[in-house]
Amino acid sequence: MLNIILFGPPGAGKGTQAELLIQSFGLKHISTGDLLRNEIAAGTDLGKEASSYMDKGELVPDVVVIGMIKSKLDAHKHAKGFIFDGFPRTVEQAVALDNLLNTYNMPICGMLSLEVEKPELICRLLNRGKNSGRSDDQDKSVIENRINVYHEKTSPLIEYYKKQGKHFGIQGTGTIEDISVRIKKVMKQACFDKL
Ligand code: ADP
Repeated sequence: MLNIILFGPPGAGKGTQAELLIQSFGLKHISTGDLLRNEIAAGTDLGKEASSYMDKGELVPDVVVIGMIKSKLDAHKHAKGFIFDGFPRTVEQAVALDNLLNTYNMPICGMLSLEVEKPELICRLLNRGKNSGRSDDQDKSVIENRINVYHEKTSPLIEYYKKQGKHFGIQGTGTIEDISVRIKKVMKQACFDKL
């Protein structure tokens, strides 16, 4: 099994690159942002709880997202592998993910970290907000808060995966194709025995 984490701040291009990777490697894409937006669209209790955090650019509680991930892993036990996008976002989520994957004997092979500077992120997110209809992409103060939350709660995961020898930094600027080539090169390096 080939499990990778696509990591990076909001607007780094994780979703775009995940789409290209699933086409190339036949992996299952798990985006917690998409799963949460599906819950909101379906009007579930979970969705109602989640939107109160997402509207402000805060993280949804760990217990909620970890539960969602667990049911996705259970439902796709026989997948060739997973691309985690937008998860884990806290150390607690990373520990829970390691524990879950260990029970299936299918550890993470690499954390591919897309690196993009803040002004570029803000510009990309405001642009996405014009077309996507995502309200959290239309308000500059919500975007700023998401980036701050990323630095405070999510970026410590870089150290977490570095300690496991699984962190790979990738320049996240340039054309979509350029970035995809860089990612595939790193994947061959990180997960060569599983490709
Ligand atoms: P982006 O990476 O552009 O912020 P996402 O779609 O990944 O977009 O996330 C949108 C929002 O959903 C986040 O701001 C957060 O409120 C919530 N969310 C997504 N994934 C998680 C997670 N793993 N833990 C907590 N909250 C999450």
